[in-house]
Amino acid sequence: MAQDLRVLFVASEGVPFAKTGGLADVVGALPLALKELGVDVRILMPYYGAVKQGNIPTAPVAENLDVHTGLGTISCDIMAPTQGDHPFYFVARDEFFERSQLYGTPQGDYFDNLERFAFFSAAVLPFCQALDFQPHLIHCHDWQASLVPVYLRCRWWGEPLLAGARTLLTIHNLAYQGLFPKEKFPLLGLDWSLFSINGLEFYDKINLLKGGIVFADAITTVSHRYSIEIQTPEFGYGLEGVLKSRAGSLFGILNGVDYKDWNPETDPLIHANYSLADPKGKAKDKAGLMEAFGLSKNLAQAPLLGIISRLADQKGFDLVEAVLPQLMARDVMVVILGTGEEKYHRWLAGEAKKYPGKLGVKIAFDNALAHLIEAGSDMFLMPSRFEPCGLNQMYSLKYGTIPVVRATGGLADTVTQVGHVTGAGTGFLFEDYSPEAFLKCIYTALAAFEDKRLWRRIMQNAMSQDFSWNKSARAYLDLYQRLME
Ligand code: ADP
Repeated sequence: MAQDLRVLFVASEGVPFAKTGGLADVVGALPLALKELGVDVRILMPYYGAVKQGNIPTAPVAENLDVHTGLGTISCDIMAPTQGDHPFYFVARDEFFERSQLYGTPQGDYFDNLERFAFFSAAVLPFCQALDFQPHLIHCHDWQASLVPVYLRCRWWGEPLLAGARTLLTIHNLAYQGLFPKEKFPLLGLDWSLFSINGLEFYDKINLLKGGIVFADAITTVSHRYSIEIQTPEFGYGLEGVLKSRAGSLFGILNGVDYKDWNPETDPLIHANYSLADPKGKAKDKAGLMEAFGLSKNLAQAPLLGIISRLADQKGFDLVEAVLPQLMARDVMVVILGTGEEKYHRWLAGEAKKYPGKLGVKIAFDNALAHLIEAGSDMFLMPSRFEPCGLNQMYSLKYGTIPVVRATGGLADTVTQVGHVTGAGTGFLFEDYSPEAFLKCIYTALAAFEDKRLWRRIMQNAMSQDFSWNKSARAYLDLYQRLME
């Protein structure tokens, strides 16, 4: 059955072409794992400036396709890589996608994101027609692709090519819903009757994600815990009621890790490779990391705490801000790599000046440095307010970099609390979203670090965890097959 299954991924980013966060990792890796299970997967993504100017050359495979949108009929080309084995296709329309960023700048979102992603979603039909690709299932990701299930049910029902297609919507982060003023509704090319409580309306605005939740055949989130959390007011961002009404079709499937990219035994981006059996190289990576951030050599024996993150409220930076002075009062080093909201850029630049040699900050998106931080740190901090899945804590486990995380979403599903007596467990968790709880948890981890035998044991527990994509891909395949029945 998997042999005959044709699946179209519709997503707004994917490795190795364009990335702002975990979604791109999923879109880069899951199709390959599904392919190994025999599924024919293709991915449709916008043709951003980053793709056009990227290292992988592309060429048109279809030109001048008519895309019917609320703005009228607009043409697009479909591009595809000419090198490598990437099952990606791109919707090209420069006025929408050839920009410096994917969704907006640090100052704010692009003003025409509704037009951009409505156009992208509407291009699914002409894409399938031009390539004569008849998917059994369309797997849509996040708000940017949430119009696809709506279009399928409300606009394309007469199209034989897509008549039998099922849809699955994966929510990678419920905080991003694609909210727009209702005046833009006509641009979606949908009947006004869909601007209702049972459709895309949300407190007098358009909510694209809600459309996907209402119209997709099934919905998944990227961890089991998060699929439960989002049905509550604390995590539901106003959509908890709609999600609850779809609880029978809402599932949690944990993201996997691409161990081809994230494995200290083979990682080409770190200073020295190492493994569970032979962890010596990690010390060299720590030295390299300290040097990269200009940290004081006198602190070589002190624990090094790493953070790699989008600089957004979700990630708990108010907690980091609150505990930093106490942390810096100890023999501890901290390195932070991130980009995001302007207020955090300013704050971090200031802090870095206050604690030279102890606090290293880089405001950038730097994949090579992210790898070195995973390898060279002793602990990894992730005090997220909420975390749909989180990848960095899983990378950290593999690199023997012990996660100190808030017990929420995917963090709670992937990190197990260290027991002091038994030495079992892979990291340190705290429940309350408060500086006190976070600090206490860090102190517990720092105390464990002093006990070299215990620490080695925790590292062994962490490094032997397996979150490979194969398991997640099987869970998706199982769901696809249930949806086809
Ligand atoms: P989210 O998707 O919420 O941003 P995840 O932990 O799921 O968080 O995934 C983040 C991904 O982006 C990881 O692969 C992480 O290494 C990467 N990443 C985030 N910020 C940076 C950065 N500044 N430089 C390099 N990689 C980053």
